[in-house]
Amino acid sequence: MQTQDIETGDCYAVAGYGGIAFRIIGFKTEEITCWHTGEVLDEVEDPDVVIAVMVGDDRRHEVDVSDLLPLAEGEFCSCCGQIGCPWGA
Ligand SMILES: [Zn+2]
Repeated sequence: MQTQDIETGDCYAVAGYGGIAFRIIGFKTEEITCWHTGEVLDEVEDPDVVIAVMVGDDRRHEVDVSDLLPLAEGEFCSCCGQIGCPWGA
């Protein structure tokens, strides 16, 4: 999986979470803070980790990019997020 192919809003299956689709929120970001003042100097994206939620849920998960498996539109239920559910297909 190439990092540059990952777009916010895309849906993927995740290794270890069979049967459920995840929607990408964005890349994980880390704040760079000044050790002296605690002031946030910069925010950097971690290209190896994305924040994703299960479709139909809003709990955020950190997912390794290498665990993302491409999912075609219509391959999962847009309502409950389950792969193979005929309801939203
Ligand atoms: Zn469904």
